[in-house]
Amino acid sequence: MEAIKSTDSEIFELIRREEIRQCDKIRLIASENYVSTAVLQATGTVLTNKYSEGYAGKRYYEGQQIIDKIECLAIDRAQKLFGAEHVNVQPYSGSPANVAVYLAFLKPGDTILGMALPHGGHLTHGAGVSISGKYFNAVSYELNRETGLIDYEAIREQAFSCRPKMIIAGHSAYPRLLDFERFRAIADECGALLLVDMAHFAGLVAGGAHPSPIPFADVVTTTTHKSLRGPRGAMILCKEQHAAAIDKAVFPGMQGGPHNHTTAAMAVAFKEADSQEFREYAHQVVENGRTLAEIMKRKGFNLITGGTDNHLLLVDLTSKGIGGKPAARALDQAGIVVNYNAIPFDPRKPGNPSGIRLGTAAVTSRGFKEKEMIRVGEWIDAVISDPENEGLHAEIAQDVASYCRAYPPPGITL
Ligand SMILES: *Cc1c(COP(=O)(O)O)cnc(C)c1O
Repeated sequence: MEAIKSTDSEIFELIRREEIRQCDKIRLIASENYVSTAVLQATGTVLTNKYSEGYAGKRYYEGQQIIDKIECLAIDRAQKLFGAEHVNVQPYSGSPANVAVYLAFLKPGDTILGMALPHGGHLTHGAGVSISGKYFNAVSYELNRETGLIDYEAIREQAFSCRPKMIIAGHSAYPRLLDFERFRAIADECGALLLVDMAHFAGLVAGGAHPSPIPFADVVTTTTHKSLRGPRGAMILCKEQHAAAIDKAVFPGMQGGPHNHTTAAMAVAFKEADSQEFREYAHQVVENGRTLAEIMKRKGFNLITGGTDNHLLLVDLTSKGIGGKPAARALDQAGIVVNYNAIPFDPRKPGNPSGIRLGTAAVTSRGFKEKEMIRVGEWIDAVISDPENEGLHAEIAQDVASYCRAYPPPGITL
């Protein structure tokens, strides 16, 4: 970073501090990860200088000899990795990818049926504050009150009564696997399209640690920067019959020029993901989730659905007598970074809900396994058991930082 250092010492210093933060803290935010040095390098290249509106072979500006090859490589690798018929790698991020899918298939006012935001759905699945809730007639399904699980029969009934044009499966905070076959059957029965948003668990799908939605969904969207461990971006995977509609919706419907440096970094990440090492990572992510769930339960924490099958845990702190926000704050002071999160049917307000969400992708990328997850669970318990003891939190933060130095994360050399 010599050039940044001499041009802009303020930004240099802040990046440096963020590198140290990412090394010295236990990062349990379920949507975050550490990309490899190779992915990081691809994002910082001259590819950012090129405009390439359109698609390979059909661009609006000249000079695409190299860019076309890069985008085709990214597409080929994604097709192979996920077994998809058609892939569009141009969406800037997960939210615009979802909006592009709506643009491809829906008219304003059409009905969509997605998981409610406070139950683990994403903003773009029909939340009132989002374009998806403002421009469409968004109906939400909720989780079962007793089990915290998806209630497929209830979704089926809801689908029959609201007759959605599109059903959305996918989540940001649901700790169990999704039954894509079941979603497909419901969509077929009521004549709806099925969109699966696998943003959170795409890396697990790529690594064979989670069922794939590709055979069942009309369209699949995903971010590339969460468990998939690529650059910040997104892609849309679909059946060949929808290829033209999707491509037209992304460009010129929704976006202008693609971010070519990101496309190249995606290609690198997809190559990395097509390896034994990545498959081991994906299975370890799930294993680490299970281990963390076990230790948390032993410490008396109440987990929504009683555990996890994927990379995330949703912890209900009600029995611990603390809100999600002060808990997340105290954990951060102790070097453990999580986010406060609503639980299904949360009686508390969204600004300080009853839960916290924990994810295992980032710590798995830095080499944490069973032994380390148990240690993490013990630290979390120590902090939540004494949430106002700032001295203790500072002490734990020191322990966490020195512990973490033995697990250097990908992409960062201090
Ligand atoms: C993170 C996420 C997105 C949006 O991704 P951004 O890149 O933040 O726009 C979309 N859908 C789901 C389910 C997500 O978890």
